[in-house]
This record gives sequence, C-alpha cells and structure tokens, in this order.
Amino acid sequence: MELPFAEAYKIKMVEPVRRSTRDEREQWLKAAHYNMFQLKAEQVFIDLLTDSGTGAMSHRQWAAMMTGDESYAGARSFFELKDTVQAITGFERFIPTHQGRAAENVLFSALVRAGDVIPGNSHFDTTKGHIESRGATALDCTIDEARDTCLELPFKGNVDMQKLEQALAQYAEKIPFIIITITNNTAGGQPVSMENMKAVRCLANRYQKPVLFDSARFAENAYFIKMREDGYRHKTIKEIAREMFGYADGMTMSAKKDAIVNMGGFIATRRADWFEAAKNFCIPYEGYLTYGGMAGRDMAALAVGLDEGTEFETLETRIKQVEYLGRKLDEYHIPYQRPTGGHAIFVDALKVLSNVPKEEFPAQTLTIELYLEAGIRGCEIGYLLADRDPVTRENRFGGLDLLRLAIPRRTYTNNHIDVVAAALKNVFDRRETITRGVRIVKEAAYMRHFTVELELI
Ligand SMILES: *Cc1c(COP(=O)(O)O)cnc(C)c1O
Repeated sequence: MELPFAEAYKIKMVEPVRRSTRDEREQWLKAAHYNMFQLKAEQVFIDLLTDSGTGAMSHRQWAAMMTGDESYAGARSFFELKDTVQAITGFERFIPTHQGRAAENVLFSALVRAGDVIPGNSHFDTTKGHIESRGATALDCTIDEARDTCLELPFKGNVDMQKLEQALAQYAEKIPFIIITITNNTAGGQPVSMENMKAVRCLANRYQKPVLFDSARFAENAYFIKMREDGYRHKTIKEIAREMFGYADGMTMSAKKDAIVNMGGFIATRRADWFEAAKNFCIPYEGYLTYGGMAGRDMAALAVGLDEGTEFETLETRIKQVEYLGRKLDEYHIPYQRPTGGHAIFVDALKVLSNVPKEEFPAQTLTIELYLEAGIRGCEIGYLLADRDPVTRENRFGGLDLLRLAIPRRTYTNNHIDVVAAALKNVFDRRETITRGVRIVKEAAYMRHFTVELELI
C-alpha cells in the first residue's frame, strides 16, 4: 500500500481556539460593520484572513530569537541576515524594513515619480497603493488567461509579453522599472515560469529598463517551477531561487510570507544607484540601516525562516495542504481559481453568488456568509479591494471577484481544513437563496478594504 502524505513536522506548542454560536457571530459582525478586518481575532474559529505573519515559527527560529543582537548599529544579527539573503538571492546590497509595504515605501520613494507608469503582472494592493498615491500608474500586463478561473494552466501568473512590449514602446520614458510579482498573489497565488522571467529580462534589456521582483512568495514560486517546468525537477528550491533572482535587478520582500516570521521585510538589490537612493529614505521612515524597523531577534528568526522556507519539505507540506482543500471543493463542485495556487484557494464568488449584483459586492457577501456559517474568516479579493479608479472615482468592476481562503503556514491541521470545506458547502448549497449583498457606508480613498464600513441590503 502506498503510504499517505503527512506533514514534515510535529507540534510542540498549541494555542486554544474557540467555537462560537451563530447568534454571537451575527452581533459581532454587525458591530464590525461587516468588515472582516474589524473583527477581534478571538471572535474567529479558523482564521484564513491571510497567510501573512500568521505562520508558526520552528524551534530553530525560536532558539535564534534568543541570539538576537540588539545593538543599534552594526548588529551581528544584521550581518547574519544580510549573508543569508545574499546566499539565497545573490543580491549583495540589503536594507531591512519592518514589512513588505515598508520596503515598497522606501524603494518607491526613491524611484517613482508622478506620471510614471509601472507595468507588471497584477500588482499587489499595497504595491498599487504605493504607486498610485505617488500619482503614478500600475499597468497590469498579466496574461488574459488568468482571468478565466476554470482554465488549468501551469503558470497562470505570467506576464503577457505583448502587453508588456506595447507598454514599453508607448510609455518608454515614463517607466522607471518593470515589476514581477512572484507568485502572482492577486491572480490567485499563481506562479510565474522561469521562461517568462527570462523573457521579461530580455525585453527589459532591449528597452534598458530594470526589473524588480515583488518576492513575498518566491519560494512557493520556485516550488511550482520545480514541479511544473521542464528541466527543474532535479534542482533544489535554493538553486531555482538563485536562477530566478538572476533575472532581476532587485527585490522587495514581505518576510511575513515565505520567510515564516510574524513581522519583517527587506529590499535587496545588485544596483548601487537603487541602494544609495533607498538608504536616504530608510533612515527617516524605518530606522538606521542595520535594523530598518526590526529588532535584532526578529532579524535572527528571519534568517532561519528564509533558510527553512526554501527547503523542499516545508513547501511540499504547505502546498499539499492547499491542494487538499482544493480537492474537497472539487468534491462539492465549488468553483475556484484553478489550478490551486501556492498559499490560498480563491473561490469564484461571481459563479457561486450569481444572484447578487456586482454593485453589491458578491465576494464580500460570500465572505460574510462563511463567517456566519462557522466562524471562518476569509478575505475578499475583489471589487472592494480593487478600490476606485483614481481618475474617474468609479468602482472597478472589471476584474475577478474572489473569496480568498489563505492558509497560514504550519498552523492548522487537515481537520480544520475539513471544517472549512464543509462550511463552504453549506453556504454553496443555499446559494440560490442569497440574492442581496452589501453597500458601502464609509470608505477611505486608498486601500479602502481595511477600514471600509458596510451594511447589509
Ligand atoms: C504581502 C505582500 C506585500 C506587502 O507586504 P506586507 O508585509 O504585508 O507589508 C507586497 N506584495 C505582495 C505580493 C504581498 O503578498
């Protein structure tokens, strides 16, 4: 008999979670203005809001915390982290920041000007926020196939080379760099192929433009290259990662994802001009250059997390759990972005709640229903997140409207996943009866989904 798959770790510390009643959840959610970010964590049974900073650190990481050097300047933990980043990415210049968006803030303050255009595959929401708030444009050049949730493609996160070439030809002077997000979070945690990265690099060279990787889930991307792209089966994740970063000039990193820490981020680059310019913004925004918003102990845990997060067994355990949830949803015929991505399942809310008009935010409505059903907190990745068009101020109803179920690393068992699937099935079974959604009562100008206040219609 073939042995079943099991996690490549055992559990040493646990934290209780509490179930609640539907009545309690109705009250709590109303008080939270139907915004999942405004719930208290203790009002949640299974928290799939995000896989960011919510993973379980290993015993090696906790041990490393005790070795952190808390010197203001020149801390040993900084140099150890810098060496690890260089070993994994090949980038010799390194600036720590407190999280990924802080890396964007520091680097984009140096590189992005009003009127600029930054093409790439689907920009992440904070990335888009940092571009648009500077009066620049984030130009989405993802392949069209990514928008068809039923289509099974190995690298659905890819950049469309024709769209990119057109952008480069049209906006040549206005483009400070091209950005590739690995994995493509917004398109459903879908990977980008090595071939595609190489092609972007070649095209960028022709137009003499630098390439930046938004690298939060670069290790998951490397896992998919190993499993799906010809010629990589026998390479290690670390070898693949080194090759990937070889096609970039630099990276911004949210270490809260694939580096499995609760807080942390960085910029790394081979370009002296980027490094020198970014340094000037790190000091006022983040802190001195050898800590950039992180404690020494956090840098120590991050160095270990980067090493563990780029081990095959860590990634295999994680991605197989995401696939497990996908198979359950297949069993129940619930439509989601196919194939399953690296960090989450993205349920296609337009297909599930086809009776709820777009203007009433179907994915947010589905998110609400799932919470009321079983205390499971998912996250809308759809029309609320898409914000308004910065010029017309109209809602952007053009793209996908998804409920994201993000799986924290090393945190939940497959029993929890079974509960998630069953709860979603219950909502799915009564989908025809759900005909009205939500309306916005109050919203911010950028990144409104964090604070938006809603009411049921
Ligand atoms: C999470 C994330 C960011 C922002 O990082 P934070 O650590 O949350 O600030 C940027 N880009 C991508 C692709 C991400 O997933």
